[in-house]
Formats: sequence, structure tokens, C-alpha cells
Amino acid sequence: MTGPTSSAFEALLARRGGDLLILVDDHLRIVRAGLEAAALADRVQQSLAGMSLIAAFGSASLDAVARQASASGEATSGEADLGRLGARQFAVDAVPLEDGGLIMSLHDITALRRIERVRRDFVANISHELRTPLTSIKLLAETLSTGTVDDGPTMREFATQIERETDHLAQLVDELLDLSMIESGETKLALEALDPEEVIADVVARIGPVAERGEVRISRLPTPASVVRAMADPGRLGQALLNLAHNGVKYSHPGSEVRIGWEVIADRVRFSVADTGIGVPQAHQQRIFERFYKVDRSRAREREAREPGGSAGLGLAIVRHIAEAHGGAVGMVSEEGVGSTFWIEVPRAAALDV
Ligand code: ADP
Repeated sequence: MTGPTSSAFEALLARRGGDLLILVDDHLRIVRAGLEAAALADRVQQSLAGMSLIAAFGSASLDAVARQASASGEATSGEADLGRLGARQFAVDAVPLEDGGLIMSLHDITALRRIERVRRDFVANISHELRTPLTSIKLLAETLSTGTVDDGPTMREFATQIERETDHLAQLVDELLDLSMIESGETKLALEALDPEEVIADVVARIGPVAERGEVRISRLPTPASVVRAMADPGRLGQALLNLAHNGVKYSHPGSEVRIGWEVIADRVRFSVADTGIGVPQAHQQRIFERFYKVDRSRAREREAREPGGSAGLGLAIVRHIAEAHGGAVGMVSEEGVGSTFWIEVPRAAALDV
């Protein structure tokens, strides 16, 4: 293929950052393809000439779009999975040329498909989290309204359970709103130079009643000698640490201890919460800060029996987003059956701010 088609194709190819382009002849053999297309096929550019689309890209869906365009003589659109193990998704347009063959343009929609998948998972997760308390409330209310129980104490117990489940729902909604506000950057941080000692004293005081109920002691890790300030929003940092401390208590055995402390690491202040509880299995550690991620639902349910409410797997996602909003980070080390240390880092205040 020479002449105007070819030079127009070369001009299109020269447009960097555009879609991937492939020129095929009327036998659907590749005449010319761009560098990106060659990279996608995992071959050098020149070696593609003369190859069929299937041989070059191993994608039946790409070939199908070309065949349909060629048979109908009309511009045809479709989708194809390409790249190693079909890891990338492309929107494909095939346009027949007057002098035979096709120009195929491939637009990468991998990111778009990923966002759609995340959104679908998100809705499925929320529905799942809502369904459990809603089912309980419905059953309890039904039992009360049909009059099958008529003794006062049982009725009161049912009403208390309904209240507990609605509290759980309200907490879930609060967490979701919180997460979406922090995530979207809608919440403005009110940064202050904070004394880490005071931050920790506050968390220790607030976690006290929860720890007592779980029969867990709270203690403080040794205080570093340095005088530093953390540059953070006191409300948000407190919320993050409280979440970590709450988990420390929730996933600890009665009679054990949760230790809270801080240290300076380069230009950041790291606050950590260490427990000697059930720990997080290695296989789950990577994903634990994702929203809705729980190590295993039965384990969460077992804890739930001891301490009802708030186990939607959102706590650590909130901590991560708070850290990121501060330009900080989160992390953990854990060993199953031995315990975990979770930490959040926020920037250290410059000397002038102290
Ligand atoms: P949840 O509301 O379920 O506690 P999180 O996001 O706070 O949600 O935690 C996610 C999961 O991480 C929990 O379900 C739990 O399995 C695990 N996890 C969190 N903190 C700890 C900890 N200190 N020790 C052991 N497992 C933990």
C-alpha cells in the first residue's frame, strides 16, 4: 500500500500520545503499525509487517472487528483485550479504505474499565454491609409486631437489639460519608503544630472505656527525648489514631496490652499502636488498608459478638486517607498469632512553627 493512504497513515503515526494505529491490507495482514502497537504485541516494529492480527496480537476479538469491517465495508467498532495475558482493554475502530485494507485505531480504556469495576465492587460491598443489619432489624420488628413474644423482658431485649443494629447502620453511613469527604479532598485540614505527647494523651484517654470493656490495658511506649511538633489536623489525626487503637483493642485477647507511642523518622512524626493480638496473616497485609477489606468475615463476626458495631472494613481506609491528605503515610508489621504494630506518619513541623 503506497500513495496518499500510506502518507496519511505516517502522519497519523507521528502524532505521539494518540491512539495506537495499525494499517492492514485486504487480506487483513499488517502493512504498518506504530511503535506502541509493536510494544503491545511484544515484537519489534518491522517484524509485524505481513503478519495476521491473530499471529501478531493473539487477540481473536481484535481480528473479529477487522473481519466485520472488511466484510461489511463499513466503519466498525468493538472492544479487545490485548497485551500480555490480555491485561489491557482497548476500544477498537476499524475503518475500510477505498484502495483496500483497513486503518485500525486502538484506544486504551484499561483505566476506565478499572474505575467501573471499582465502582461496581463498591456498590456490591455497601449493599452487603447494609443487608446484614437490615435483615436483623426486619426479623426483630416482625417478631414484635406479630405478637409471638409478649413478655416484657424479651420485647425489651428485641428493642435493644434493633437499637444496636440501627447504631451500626448509622456508624456505617458516617464512615462512608467521612471516607468520601476525605477522599474527594472536600475536607480542608486545619493544620497545627501539635505536641505528640498531647496527641497521645488524648487518644489514651478516649480509648480508655473501650479498652476497659475489652479487658485490655493501654500503656504508652517510651517517649523520645527530642522536642518536636507534628504538623497535623488535631481532629483528623486523633480520629486516625483512635481507629488504630480501637482495632488494637478489638483484635487483642482479654488481659493483654496495647501500647501507643511516637517517634521521629526523618522529616515525619510516626505515631504507632502495638498490640499482642491475633495478628494479620501475611497474605492479607498488602490489602488491609483498602476500603471494605476484612481479613475474614467469620473472624470479624466472632469479634462482633464481643464488641458489636463497626466492622465494615472501612476503619483502616479512613486512616490511610487521613495520612495521605497530610502528605504522610501508613504502614504495619504483623505476625499471625503474635501481634501487630500499625503506624501513621504526618509531617514534622518546621522549627519556626514549633
Ligand atoms: P474493621 O472495621 O473490620 O475493623 P478495618 O479497616 O479497621 O475494618 O480493618 C480491616 C481488617 O484488618 C479487619 O477486619 C481485621 O481483620 C484487620 N485488622 C485491623 N487491625 C488489626 C489488628 N490490630 N490486629 C489484627 N487484625 C487487624
